[in-house]
Amino acid sequence: MAKAFIVGHPIKHSRSPLIHGHWLKAYGLDGSYERIDVEPVNFGEFLRSFRSRGFAGGNVTLPHKEAAFAGVDRRTAQAQRVGAVNTLWAEDGLIWGDNTDVTGFMAHLDASLGTGWEQDVDTALVLGAGGAARAVVAGLQDRPIKRIFVANRTGSKAEDLARDLRPGSPVGLETSAWEALGRVIPHAQLIVNTTSLGMAGQPSLTLDLSRSPRRAAVADIVYVPLKTPLLAAAAAQDLRTVDGLGMLLHQAVPGFRRWFGVTPEVTPGLRALILADIEGTR
Ligand code: NAP
Repeated sequence: MAKAFIVGHPIKHSRSPLIHGHWLKAYGLDGSYERIDVEPVNFGEFLRSFRSRGFAGGNVTLPHKEAAFAGVDRRTAQAQRVGAVNTLWAEDGLIWGDNTDVTGFMAHLDASLGTGWEQDVDTALVLGAGGAARAVVAGLQDRPIKRIFVANRTGSKAEDLARDLRPGSPVGLETSAWEALGRVIPHAQLIVNTTSLGMAGQPSLTLDLSRSPRRAAVADIVYVPLKTPLLAAAAAQDLRTVDGLGMLLHQAVPGFRRWFGVTPEVTPGLRALILADIEGTR
């Protein structure tokens, strides 16, 4: 039986077991996916011992993504670029690490806006400069868009992100002061919120979208609630919207394929299951 895990601290609220459990059942596979709570001080030992405990690999979540990055033997190009690892597996005696938030975000963007959406986008605006912002910017840099602006409350973190991710990419990567967002928004055909603003219990993200380009798209990676105040404001301006749940579902695909040997599909049924869990109606 193939076994996988999600490791974090705390870990009890993770929805990943629900996602992988759904796929194991849907594909009739003999496998398991379990939550493991590991304190930071014990993470290095966990990383070295998961294979001898019979695991094919697993997901890594807060606060271990940087420790996983530092501790693996090999990293995919995406993990290397983002500086964090959220997916582990063993191959030829080595521990590999990937960052699937990159493909997770991009796959959902493609599915929501339709392939070729880049034709309408020459400027993207990414709000936030944390771990998720790095994954989003790395994904957008692979697409034929002209420039990306990053704006963050703490400006120095946006500068750090731009300095780290600029090399090797033909896409212009610039920073904007948080206070100057009003000057960038009218030029941005794609806006992505990667801050925690808008999440249940957090203040809303309030942007003036009245001067957004006509067919602009607004994506929010926050998915609790699914319709964030930002997405509601975008819809009120007749802009296209992309919610955060699809990223969560799509980022799980590469890991499942590695551990269980089947490429799982993100279906309306899976989405409904996780949505019901978010809304407390499951
Ligand atoms: P993080 O590294 O802690 O970064 C948090 C970001 O939010 C920083 O840019 C921070 O700005 C900003 N922020 C927090 N409070 C703010 C406020 N009051 N005003 C303005 N900016 C504020 O977190 P992360 O891992 O990048 O995750 C960010 C969000 O994305 C979380 O809500 C997380 O749940 C969500 N997420 C979703 C998915 C998905 O699959 N959909 C995947 C990953 C993350 P400062 O630097 O100024 O503090």
